[in-house]
Amino acid sequence: MFRESPIIRWRNYSDRYKLSGHKCTKCGANYFEKKGMCVCGNLIFSEMFFSGNGKIVSFTKIHSGPSVFEEQSPYCVAIIDLEEGARITAQIVDCKYDELKIGLGVEAVFRKLYKSGEKGIIHYGTKFRLKL
Ligand SMILES: [Zn+2]
Repeated sequence: MFRESPIIRWRNYSDRYKLSGHKCTKCGANYFEKKGMCVCGNLIFSEMFFSGNGKIVSFTKIHSGPSVFEEQSPYCVAIIDLEEGARITAQIVDCKYDELKIGLGVEAVFRKLYKSGEKGIIHYGTKFRLKL
């Protein structure tokens, strides 16, 4: 019988894979980062989840990034417009820099972000890949 370890189990919690954001309760605008006030002047937001689908607005290749990303260098970073209307910056994985183009569709994937501390604790989060 297969016994699932606690380390593997948390990977199955769907909330950990989702990109959460903030939806204005008045006009419906979505924001990735929490805002004090919406562009419509409303101060009240509800939690929402993004589909993870978006398009590349701009991109670049990082050759010398922060030390925690050193083992991943060089890597690609893009500004992405999510289909729900918010804009985020994220790493693009599983492709070469030459394959990236403004306007290409991308989708969120759950990946290792970096290791930290003496024990090498692994931090996970959202990155993006080209949508086929
Ligand atoms: Zn609003």
